[in-house]
Amino acid sequence: MVFANSNWETHDFQVKMLDWSAARGSRLAFTCRNCRRKFCNFTVLSQGAWAADADGRALDDAVSIRWLAEKCPRLPSAGDDKDRERLRGAIPQ
Ligand SMILES: [Zn+2]
Repeated sequence: MVFANSNWETHDFQVKMLDWSAARGSRLAFTCRNCRRKFCNFTVLSQGAWAADADGRALDDAVSIRWLAEKCPRLPSAGDDKDRERLRGAIPQ
């Protein structure tokens, strides 16, 4: 694993490849079996992981930063559903 973030290790991820491009490499989706949070990253472009909704759409950077800074909550939470409505680039309400 390329992640130095120890919080990452607290999740129990199922990994799926979403797509592939020569420049970015594979886009991988990591879905935690416990908390159902989903993260994505590119295997070549090392920008790090970001949070995604169930369909793999990127969430707001603030959500990514918070989720990456937290340990696995072990259970899905209603607050996470709110976070999933905050897509990256969406205009804040
Ligand atoms: Zn988790």
